[in-house]
Amino acid sequence: MTAEREPVALVAPDEVRWIVRTLEDAGYETWAVGGAVRDGLRGAGSTDWDFATRARPGQVRRLFHRTVPLGVEHGTVGVLDREGVLHEVTTFRKDVETDGRHAVVAFADRIEDDLARRDFTINALAWHPLRDDLLDPFHGRDDLAARVLRTVGAPEERFREDYLRVLRALRFAGRFDLTIDPATWSALREAVPHLPVLSPERIREELLKVLGGEAPASRALTLYRTSGATAVVAPELHALDDEAWARTLAEVDAVSNRRPWLRMAALLGRVGGPPLRLDEPDPGQVADLRAADDTAARAVVRAVALLSRLRVSNRQLDDVAGWVAQGVEPPRLDDGPARRRWLARVGPERLDGYADLWRARAAAAPGAAADPGPIIAALQAEVRSGAPLAVGDLAVSGRDLIALGHRPGPRFGEILDDLLDRVLDDPALNTRDTLLPLLEARAATGDEGAR
Ligand code: ATP
Ligand code: MG
Repeated sequence: MTAEREPVALVAPDEVRWIVRTLEDAGYETWAVGGAVRDGLRGAGSTDWDFATRARPGQVRRLFHRTVPLGVEHGTVGVLDREGVLHEVTTFRKDVETDGRHAVVAFADRIEDDLARRDFTINALAWHPLRDDLLDPFHGRDDLAARVLRTVGAPEERFREDYLRVLRALRFAGRFDLTIDPATWSALREAVPHLPVLSPERIREELLKVLGGEAPASRALTLYRTSGATAVVAPELHALDDEAWARTLAEVDAVSNRRPWLRMAALLGRVGGPPLRLDEPDPGQVADLRAADDTAARAVVRAVALLSRLRVSNRQLDDVAGWVAQGVEPPRLDDGPARRRWLARVGPERLDGYADLWRARAAAAPGAAADPGPIIAALQAEVRSGAPLAVGDLAVSGRDLIALGHRPGPRFGEILDDLLDRVLDDPALNTRDTLLPLLEARAATGDEGAR
């Protein structure tokens, strides 16, 4: 076993030494802590250096020219280094009270206390950039080498203090491909039923970190399922059978982690599978689900239910629902009009997302799914051609109807929609010379009373 305190040299930018020197010259013990130390020991570089210090937030702010009050009540001051990079400098803390939702902390005087309140041994490391010495009271370095995730201290207690640590454990184990230590794992399983005490926002952010991370998301998501966490936070996913789940995971991994919301759509793409279960979480949904007569429509109902519970913003919810609505297969669109109608319906701005999803699905099941390349190319060519796809692209507008003596009203929309319908069939019609007479004729039919 490695010692609690040992000389260790890590690669760190000069700015890291400058921050520590500035604080220590003023008499405040300061350490680099958290992810950057862990990643440095793993041999991976990090730009995200955080610090723990005995200085109180006001003292930190007085020592540096450029600071940002990131969370002064929690002891965190942002310090901008000379390169303009922001570092979190946080006063040593210890837990004083916990309720499972979050820990209430107080300032502490010792780095050892600060490390003891951290979640996992691999995250409870401190490194001194001036002395090149590593403080590792919980043997996180051994766990890192043995690829084990273990809580600092008694796992039952640590999860009970803050149930978010359950989801963090699944995420870190997936990210670094760690085995969860048996005692930690059994405490974690016991803690899973308590996840609903967490705010939906915190659950959502955790899930997004899994989807946005560079490691294959399937590793953490598999742990979500085997630990029972999906049954609690996402029963829609839990209901998937093993085969649908395996395909879902492969599809999520095949979508770029730089598009976490698209990965969310891949994650939810198959939840329409079972026609109707009696234990749907929200009874209000059952009517919607009955009305939804195909798998994709049911997937949308369930995806929207889940995302709403997680308090996802309307914009993101619209995007994900739009992607899920299209189903898992590319549509069959044999000619230009069919392709333009499809683009007009779903919005050309979503095409990139669909294309990524279809490619991911083909990549996840080589041979099984048809090559989406041709349909993607045909749709992209349609968008590039500049063919009108929305009322706003028409060569005529409501202004022309007003000029013709009509009073604005809901009929304007209907009339322009009809014209768009014809232009979607034949984009060559989209000139003022052709459309104005059509507009006039269409507006004149059944128009009494509207004038
Ligand atoms: P990342 O590279 O993802 O930022 P990180 O280890 O820096 O990884 P953060 O979520 O940024 O993770 O947290 C910074 C540190 O704060 C962690 O390493 C851990 O020591 C501690 N920490 C964060 N959240 C908790 C928590 N809920 N309970 C205990 N300690 C925590
Ligand atoms: Mg971090």
